[in-house]
Amino acid sequence: MKGQADTVGNMADDFRSTFAETRILVTGGAGFLGSWLCEVLAACGATVHCLDNFSTGQIQNVSSFRKAIQITRADVTTARLPGGYNYIFHMSSRASPEEYQIHPIETLRANSEGTVRMLELARKSDAVVVYASTSEVYGNAAVVPTPESYYGYVSSVGIRSCYDEGKRFGEAVCMAYFRQHGVHVRIPRIFNSYGPRIRSDGIYARVVPRFILQAIRNEPLTIQGSGTQTRSFCYVTDTVRGLMLVASPRGKDGETFNIGSPDEITIARLAEKVKGISRSKSGIKHVEAREDDPRRRCPDLSRTRKLGWRPRTSLDEGLASTIFYFRRAYGA
Ligand code: UDP
Repeated sequence: MKGQADTVGNMADDFRSTFAETRILVTGGAGFLGSWLCEVLAACGATVHCLDNFSTGQIQNVSSFRKAIQITRADVTTARLPGGYNYIFHMSSRASPEEYQIHPIETLRANSEGTVRMLELARKSDAVVVYASTSEVYGNAAVVPTPESYYGYVSSVGIRSCYDEGKRFGEAVCMAYFRQHGVHVRIPRIFNSYGPRIRSDGIYARVVPRFILQAIRNEPLTIQGSGTQTRSFCYVTDTVRGLMLVASPRGKDGETFNIGSPDEITIARLAEKVKGISRSKSGIKHVEAREDDPRRRCPDLSRTRKLGWRPRTSLDEGLASTIFYFRRAYGA
């Protein structure tokens, strides 16, 4: 335990002075991170408009507080929106590699056309736009921990390019609106995050929920490739706190910020941890590696730390609460 575990209530207490009585659009608001944002921002006293086409977002993510927000089912590339927002969190995009590779055009459009539309909307009402970018803009990084100044090692025609290049275009068009029209753009680059509400089913499942579900069902944990590839995993409340901080007056227009855990871990070690914490009898099964899978991923947090941000929840603690959530959800 590195600090006090966050709740919606104490996060709202910390951000009420920034977001109370503001109008906020959250695109992808029924998704994993988007729904947490909607919940905390509504608890801050903001008027929250959640936009989602439910291609990957799920209504149950927002059902416990749905009366506190407005929900519109529409696509970010076509939705008719009233405007007049103070903040726009543009979160909508598929993010799971196995999922976005099946929907590459839609993924590119959410991040290109969708981002342009959100920037135009922001321009009209002088809103702050937080564009959910990603560690994937760094691709298979040669510098790890990776600072924001690293340009990236990305294939424009590879299997992951719909996401990597979609996000890179999204960042580029944000900077164009910042430079040409003075739009207040903020660009968090979000590293692997996990926690309650993350999807665990099929192609939607990232490694943490997939391992947890396999572990609580006592099925083998499927390590893709050797398991020596690394990631660093940030608990959802830490990620959401980071996103709100980037949007706040402490953030800076036209700036990128890494948001993620600095604790790099191999996928094989993650599998052992999940098995241990869940007291699972599962074995390990090695399956084929993913094409173009980044070898290492871990953020340099020097810039984001200057905002006063640091992850508070250790991996053991975050995994324990996520396992608890999945056991309850699946009655295991
Ligand atoms: N992975 C794995 N087994 C799985 C799912 C994922 O070994 O069942 C690996 C995957 O090959 C990658 C890492 O875990 O190296 C992280 O995958 P994830 O889908 O979470 O997303 P990514 O970090 O690649 O965007």
